[in-house]
Amino acid sequence: MSRAGEFAVSLRGVYKSFESKKVVIEDMSLNVAHGEIVVLAGPSGCGKTTTLRLIAGFIEPDRGSIFIEDLEVAGASSVPPENRPVGIVFQDYALFPHLTIEENISFGLLKIEKSGRDNIVTDSLELVGLEGFNKRYPHELSGGEQQRVALARALAPKPKVVLLDEPFSNLDAFLRAQVREEIHQILRNAGTTAIFVTHDQQEALTLADRLVVLNKGRFAQVGTPEDIYHRPATRFVANFMGQSNFLPGTVESNGISTELGRWPNPSSLDQGSEVDIMLRPHDISLAVDEAASAVVSARQFLGEENLYTIRLLSGRKIRSTMPSHSVFDLGQKVKITVRRQQGVIMKDDKRI
Ligand code: ATP
Repeated sequence: MSRAGEFAVSLRGVYKSFESKKVVIEDMSLNVAHGEIVVLAGPSGCGKTTTLRLIAGFIEPDRGSIFIEDLEVAGASSVPPENRPVGIVFQDYALFPHLTIEENISFGLLKIEKSGRDNIVTDSLELVGLEGFNKRYPHELSGGEQQRVALARALAPKPKVVLLDEPFSNLDAFLRAQVREEIHQILRNAGTTAIFVTHDQQEALTLADRLVVLNKGRFAQVGTPEDIYHRPATRFVANFMGQSNFLPGTVESNGISTELGRWPNPSSLDQGSEVDIMLRPHDISLAVDEAASAVVSARQFLGEENLYTIRLLSGRKIRSTMPSHSVFDLGQKVKITVRRQQGVIMKDDKRI
């Protein structure tokens, strides 16, 4: 077992259910390193917010324990939310509308004497790039600025960890990407340990040092964003993290045979076994070839790229992304080239 205090946050065998008796969090164990940015991602209802609420202390686990550094906040002992060294940033900013920005930030610092408080407010506003905003009211700020104030307020008491629950979902798409980048940088510069919750896979990939994909209250996979995107452990993770193709294959004596060619059999699967090769659309490229049997059946122009649906000879459809200017007509016959080393072999919906 890990030493208390070795990690910023530790969850050990945590279970949580509600009156409905449905188990929402099941046997969750996770160690978050100091300064690490962990993202909890997963579909609606998988238990992301419940996990944050358990760490913040708004709800108590049924079993298991939670440590913030060496302080056991839930389990054998219980620490109320206001005494946990945790900062929280919500989706809706939750700034007090009748208080100025400096009063909002000072709110959690009332135990500190005035001059110390003023210094912290100044430092916090500088940290989030909003120097001089002290006397403004929340309604005088843009959504992105309000979210930076919310982060300043969460960081001002110098918490051991900041919990951020869908912090960008109230922002429009353009602002969202910009504020995400800014807040990521602020957390990095401050060396803050942070746990984000999001259901947005793009956001999860961009923000995380380590990504936790949840499914029905359990870990579906924990790893680096690259690992989870390129080497998903299950079909569920592959689909949750982006577009994927599953190409059926049969294990033969000389490898795995599929409609798009042969893959080596890396784990000596039994001959005759049925598997799927998971391929991302950008691992499949196209070129015009009148002698080919694959045909372009649909194109979605996404701006930065084109997403093609290709019908193979068998009638099976696969997806391919090509650069923005690679435009093929519907019905065009195309030769398919696959980045074979990127194929992930799955048996019974699990990576082998
Ligand atoms: P979303 O992305 O939609 O916010 P989530 O992954 O954050 O989803 P949670 O809010 O953690 O999901 O909820 C997980 C499950 O627990 C859901 O089925 C939800 O209905 C249930 N749940 C959460 N809080 C309570 C509660 N206080 N009482 C009863 N059930 C609850």
